[in-house]
Amino acid sequence: MTQFAIGVDLGGTNLRAAAISVSGQMLGKIAAETDLSKGPGQVVDDIVRSIETLRQRHREQRLTGVGIGVPGFIRIAEGLIVGSNNLRCLEGYPIRDHIERRLGAPVVLENDANAAALGEKWMGAGKDVEDLVLLTLGTGIGGGIISHGRVLHGFVGMAGELGHMTVVTNGNPCGCGNRGCLEKHASATAIESMSNLLGLGEQLSAKAVFDFAVQGDERAKMIFTAMGQALGTAIANLVNIFNFPLYLMSGGVLAAWDFFYPALVEEVRWRSFTYRNTQTRIEKAALGNEAGLYGAAYLPVQAHRVTTE
Ligand SMILES: [Zn+2]
Repeated sequence: MTQFAIGVDLGGTNLRAAAISVSGQMLGKIAAETDLSKGPGQVVDDIVRSIETLRQRHREQRLTGVGIGVPGFIRIAEGLIVGSNNLRCLEGYPIRDHIERRLGAPVVLENDANAAALGEKWMGAGKDVEDLVLLTLGTGIGGGIISHGRVLHGFVGMAGELGHMTVVTNGNPCGCGNRGCLEKHASATAIESMSNLLGLGEQLSAKAVFDFAVQGDERAKMIFTAMGQALGTAIANLVNIFNFPLYLMSGGVLAAWDFFYPALVEEVRWRSFTYRNTQTRIEKAALGNEAGLYGAAYLPVQAHRVTTE
């Protein structure tokens, strides 16, 4: 009997789930909404319903297990979400164990950016390497580190919080308590605040700032240069720490790649001896918003060493 896994990507308002074969073929996807105001029991119900729908559709195959990517800090051994801006109602709730009991199948809980990094390693831009870093650029910045083909967790499960790396000493204050975090200087939100500061326009979206840059607006171009410098500083630190062959970025902001990449690479070049003397690659991720689904599905496959031949 052929085998498949289910990957779930839980966001603040929506939930996506995918059935993926253990050899990495996408079999089917569904999207649903979650209503966090109804409490953790309801969220678990919604997740279980999506998983059961997919399991039913593929009942001629054996379900290896389920992986769930969530935005936030998690304790990997206990399967708990410790802190999350989007999923406060789930903080401290034993979500993994509840879902596992309901399904009677193994469930693995993982941070969403870690899952996306693993997805890129399994079926995306990182297929040909065993070690990589992924930065997910959105309203915040997430990070995932893959070492020897596996997510680097640290001793609790909170490693890879790359959005909270300090890139500007005494820079912009961050919700995490620090100042100058990468996500306060290079996320879509940071682009929007810079456009306010520079008087480009009130409440402009990052996309609108990008459109200004395309039209040749110097202030808009400056914003992407500053963003590229912040990202380059972070990536130079990562290159110096890890000497990995590949650093990937994903997210809608990649549309502005040509505006921020030159500043980024210039920053990495001067800050990293290792970069200047190796064939280190800094590239766009390949799977878009499906990376998290692939990675989440791969978690139980990897955990149970299911053969993918
Ligand atoms: Zn922070």
